[in-house]
Amino acid sequence: MHLLRNNSDLHEPYTMLRTYVERDMDTLPEKFWENLKALKAAAVSEKNQTFAKTIWCLETAGKVQDYFITAFTLCRQDNFYGGWCYFERCEIQLASLDRHFREEDSEFGLNFIREHYPRFQFLFPYRLFISPGFIVKEARCSICDEVIKLRGGCGHIKGEIYDGELCVWKITGADFLEVSLVENPVQKYSVVFPQDGSYNYALIKYVVDGLRSPWHAWDYDRIMIETDEPLYPGVGQNEQCPCGSGNEFRLCCINKRKFREHYQVFFSVPPPKELPNYVPTADYRIPNKRYLPNRNK
Ligand SMILES: [Zn+2]
Ligand SMILES: [Zn+2]
Repeated sequence: MHLLRNNSDLHEPYTMLRTYVERDMDTLPEKFWENLKALKAAAVSEKNQTFAKTIWCLETAGKVQDYFITAFTLCRQDNFYGGWCYFERCEIQLASLDRHFREEDSEFGLNFIREHYPRFQFLFPYRLFISPGFIVKEARCSICDEVIKLRGGCGHIKGEIYDGELCVWKITGADFLEVSLVENPVQKYSVVFPQDGSYNYALIKYVVDGLRSPWHAWDYDRIMIETDEPLYPGVGQNEQCPCGSGNEFRLCCINKRKFREHYQVFFSVPPPKELPNYVPTADYRIPNKRYLPNRNK
């Protein structure tokens, strides 16, 4: 949809959303939310659906910015799981916004966030999640609170905006089935933690400490590096090779070595000099200009 850009009431919220680079690690002020709330109430009482929907888009863009900044801040404070949850919130808000509004260039930084939150997510050590299985018995429309039926429901469409609010289905009755461990869950909050709680956050820490601002672009390359360790230790020269070739080990994989992951992190702005190089698997280079966020909007 096209946002109502020329409406003078929206000038201030627009300006706040556009100056995200200057705000750096500050979330939007309370004034931003109060202002939009009041404008939305007025739009709804005047039955101005277009204006109410524009305000919902601005509110959601603001949430995306705030969640991204909060995720970054929490990781800086070594609250990595907290940061993880905010990156997930960021992803969910972006997904509901996509259907209604796509920014051009980097007006609100949404495309910057869209590129960067998956990079952060990838560097987290979480790979397994708990996924509850259940059968939904009753769901209600978030707009009118009517029970969702297969035919002839309330008429509200899930994902649409009514009076400036997103229509979702609220689950009000469900039969619990089982819990499974999955690699690609619908939502990523339910992280499986090892009993000793020992996840290695060195990579994510390296990145957040290396970035002077959440709005500085960065990227990584994952490469495999050959180590000195033999790929199949303890196999006798004349035994069959463990690779399954059917050949003797000495004629097959005897000289093969193990590989390990190595991350090369690229920062658009050089990290602080005092940043210790404490991650042996990460180093940095300055990439070309294409990673720099566009500030001339
Ligand atoms: Zn409804
Ligand atoms: Zn072999």
